[in-house]
Amino acid sequence: MSTSTLIRDESTEKPKRHQPAGEKYQAWVAGAAKEPMVLETLDPGPLGAEDVEVAVEYCGLCHSDLSVWNNDWGISQYPAIFGHEVVGRITAVGPYAKGRTVGQRVGVGWNSASCMHCHQCMSGSHHLCPQVQPTIVGHRGGFASHVRSHWAWAFPIPEKLNFADAGPLLCGGITVFAPLAMHAKPTQRVGIIGIGGLGHMAVKFAAAYGCHVTAFTSSESKFDEARGFGANHVVCSKDPAAIKKLGGSLDLLISTVDVPLDWPAMIGTLAPDGRLHFVGAVLEPVPVAAFSLIAQERNVSGSPTGSPVAIETMLDFASRHNIAPQTEHFPMSKINEAFARLASGKARYRIVLEADF
Ligand SMILES: [Zn+2]
Ligand SMILES: [Zn+2]
Repeated sequence: MSTSTLIRDESTEKPKRHQPAGEKYQAWVAGAAKEPMVLETLDPGPLGAEDVEVAVEYCGLCHSDLSVWNNDWGISQYPAIFGHEVVGRITAVGPYAKGRTVGQRVGVGWNSASCMHCHQCMSGSHHLCPQVQPTIVGHRGGFASHVRSHWAWAFPIPEKLNFADAGPLLCGGITVFAPLAMHAKPTQRVGIIGIGGLGHMAVKFAAAYGCHVTAFTSSESKFDEARGFGANHVVCSKDPAAIKKLGGSLDLLISTVDVPLDWPAMIGTLAPDGRLHFVGAVLEPVPVAAFSLIAQERNVSGSPTGSPVAIETMLDFASRHNIAPQTEHFPMSKINEAFARLASGKARYRIVLEADF
């Protein structure tokens, strides 16, 4: 087969090869940590040969956007354009982009490129690539008129999903779906710590997967909603007696919070061979007594988002089981208000910004 073929779309549609229109992008830019975002016009430069350009329709606001805006993790680069839960339509494809066509509706999540040739990429774990490119660190994110990504990181959105609310699946959704897919069986008992942006999607996924779900939240006002998302049982994460009652019962406990909890007590809820799995970036070290793991063969682990195939699998699962985040919508022009709302902890449960350029 000729390597110079331009026929990249293997569907019956006519092959397309497009370049960006050359117009300028508009984007909400933070000049420095914690500085309000201002609307700027920028020149995107030439489109990468394997990249696609997406006109943003919706973009979820994730807690990681807030953490990177604040430079909580010390990895931020400014000026910065945040937003990594994008849904939009492809407006241009590079000459070597594969399987993506102009007009196709896609999503872009936490990552927007990987090297495609390292051991991790070649074995399907592109999200663990040493050169993986986060969408909002050293790359222009989705709070903009357009966003770009490598074709392999722009995921076709199943028609059955509600496009307006699909964005948060691309980061928050895959982050909680991946540990369920890796570590849970439908017959098992799963605990979800923290009922927020990530946790409420985790409860929905775990319930749809067939697991018995225990939700942990410090907020009694969320008890009923957690049951509404599919939790069989809700426990106050600050109630030592209630946590103790669960001793030895949970096969998988997924922590979505970024605040310290009584971790030894949480490990105590694990069944033999059970696992405490972190997806929430709690910055304080987690104390783990070796003996609490050894005797019962328990595990402590963590994971970031997920691979491209895991993301496609998650989107298909969400579409089949009608799983969508519960959202509040803001016009993108109210981005600073939206960040303040997220920081207040009052958002129920995920904020989505609608592009209004
Ligand atoms: Zn995120
Ligand atoms: Zn790689």
